[in-house]
Amino acid sequence: MKYANVCNYFGGGFEAFDGPHLDVLSPLDGAVLSRTPLSSTAVLDAAATAADAAFPEWSGRTIKERSQVFYNYRSLLQRDFEHLANLVHEENGKTLDEGRAEVAKAIEITEFACSLPQMTAGEVLEVSAGVECRVQQTPLGIVASITPFNFPAMVPHWTIPIALCLGNCLILKPSEQTPLTAGHTAQLLQEAGLPAGVFSVIQGDKRIVEAICEHPRIAAISFVGSTPVAKQVYVRATARLKRVLALGGAKNHLIVLPDADVASAAANIVDSMAGCAGQRCMAAASMLAVGDVQNIIDEICQAARRMIPGKNLGAVISQAAMQRIEGYIGEAEQEGATLLVDGRGARPAGCENGFYVGATVLDHVRPEMKIAREEVFGPVLSIIHVQNQEQALALENASPYGNAATVYTQNGQTASEIVRRASAGMIGVNVGVPVPREPFGFGGWNDSRFGVGDITGKSSIGFWTQSKKITTRWS
Ligand code: NAD
Repeated sequence: MKYANVCNYFGGGFEAFDGPHLDVLSPLDGAVLSRTPLSSTAVLDAAATAADAAFPEWSGRTIKERSQVFYNYRSLLQRDFEHLANLVHEENGKTLDEGRAEVAKAIEITEFACSLPQMTAGEVLEVSAGVECRVQQTPLGIVASITPFNFPAMVPHWTIPIALCLGNCLILKPSEQTPLTAGHTAQLLQEAGLPAGVFSVIQGDKRIVEAICEHPRIAAISFVGSTPVAKQVYVRATARLKRVLALGGAKNHLIVLPDADVASAAANIVDSMAGCAGQRCMAAASMLAVGDVQNIIDEICQAARRMIPGKNLGAVISQAAMQRIEGYIGEAEQEGATLLVDGRGARPAGCENGFYVGATVLDHVRPEMKIAREEVFGPVLSIIHVQNQEQALALENASPYGNAATVYTQNGQTASEIVRRASAGMIGVNVGVPVPREPFGFGGWNDSRFGVGDITGKSSIGFWTQSKKITTRWS
């Protein structure tokens, strides 16, 4: 085992858990990396008590004072950049470069948090002679962030720096499949000067998630994960009158027109479907081929064959995920899809016990097939042929999800029509992973998001605060 048992972090210290643990396997080679606690609810209570004690002093600081901690933290993220990228690589299985990209994004969001003093300057107006109204944003108290396995550094940073800089105390519950990066995050926040109790990491499984939803001291919850769990968390926690933003899964459609630039569209589509081994909520899933785009399909197949598992294509998270993805491919073939590139059975030399699926391209998929309807979460592209743009939009709009959609064309009018009518929160024009960069917010629509607003960007300020309206007159 490369690393010692993972500890929980609360009250400014790391605590070993005296109870059941789960093996953490590296998807790269299947080896046991560490063991993570399946914490009891008593540990969550202890973190909430520590946060309660820390909240008055932390929230009492000015936001400019609080932001200084995140300037320090940003420098520490840069100092430990390679270490963090490597942890992500080891515990998630993505390539080292993809780990680096994730840490770079965590830094970018930390920079956004550093700008919050500028963004939250209040409003003031003399509403009648001698009477002034003023608005200020105040923190909620103790809040929680529940995160998935696929971005162990980036997704926790969608919430940590923003919620904390706005004056809240935050409890992070990372995925039990990727618990290691969060511990290093806690260490760096402490080194940056964050007071004890303000940030906690409680490791565990669904029992801790359920306890967070029920916890009387937790005011708001941000959840990122699959749609069924996002729905459960949203319903359970809002029934306890908590503020909740729950981001769910996705099934992203790419509408490819015959006038698209062949080489760049094909390369971009393969990056989108196979990057991070397809384990991105922004990954290309279904390509809607409008008319004759055979030249683009041919290029896609060539680019997919250049994705080499264990080299420029990382692992998927677990053996179960590998079997699930391969199962989807097999079923699609049985239902009549044509397998243009088959990524099943990938076993990179030296990593035979790792969990790999090669880039896979399926043609002649029909909308009613299981692979066209469900989230596969692997490096698999399903090509569905349609006769025109209207049919493509109808299929995109019919998806219950609504995270991202992309159009590939060189015609501005076609692009703006598709941008206007696609039913998704994030749209790309010749961009296969249309993740908004800061200060723009990240968030989908429909079954990809329950609650209001985006998780990052300006609307995150509203989520993590409540506004106080002050009317003043002096006689
Ligand atoms: P998941 O839903 O299985 O787990 C997410 C979190 O919920 C984890 O912390 C896990 O411990 C917890 N959890 C799991 N099952 C639970 C249950 N039954 N009750 C309560 N808590 C439970 O998701 P995952 O497999 O870790 O991540 C992949 C999913 O996340 C994909 O569906 C992907 O699309 C989605 N995702 C969405 C976004 C987005 O922004 N919309 C971003 C990243 C990932």
